Amino acid sequence: MIDQVPTLAQLIKALQQIPYLASKNIYQLTTYFLQLDPEKIEHLCTVLLKARAKIVPCSICYVWKEFDGACSYCDAPGRDAKLICVVETWQELLTIEKTGGYQGLYHVLGGVICPLDGVGPEELAIAPLIARAQSGVTEIILATNQTPEGEATAAYIARKLADTGVNISCLARGIPVGSSLAFMDRLTVYKAIADRRPF
Ligand SMILES: [Zn+2]
Repeated sequence: MIDQVPTLAQLIKALQQIPYLASKNIYQLTTYFLQLDPEKIEHLCTVLLKARAKIVPCSICYVWKEFDGACSYCDAPGRDAKLICVVETWQELLTIEKTGGYQGLYHVLGGVICPLDGVGPEELAIAPLIARAQSGVTEIILATNQTPEGEATAAYIARKLADTGVNISCLARGIPVGSSLAFMDRLTVYKAIADRRPF
């Protein structure tokens, strides 16, 4: 049926190429767009293009920021620059920020080491982290997820940091093994950071 409506097939194909959209929702999403006010579609396209052009990762911590603006963390007054929390993605950072109990800086790796997916240490922001560790930092919290890849990535970073003299810590036990920090409740994450232990 869809083949006989080539424009519709093209829309579905384009939407299917967006990762993270559950495939079971593709048809609902297609219907949503087909019924959406053209002005709203135009607005969405404009917002996407503008974001793509103007938002870049911070050159220090790799958190998204405005191209010509300050970093919400590195440039924020009152944050403890001696403390860096290392997270896999921006999503985990937001989870930690929501606890309101962390005042240090961050470092977003951009993923985890996963040879099967072709992701090696070079694909992640690990080298810049090692460099940052040598600029007056006293503690680095490895807050990668407690999955095999997350733990292997933390172990790799800890080995690389061994000669820097920086204290290396990790989240307290209490986060269920195999789970992502981003899906934990606020109190669990707060306690995991407050009760962190040496790596
Ligand atoms: Zn930054």
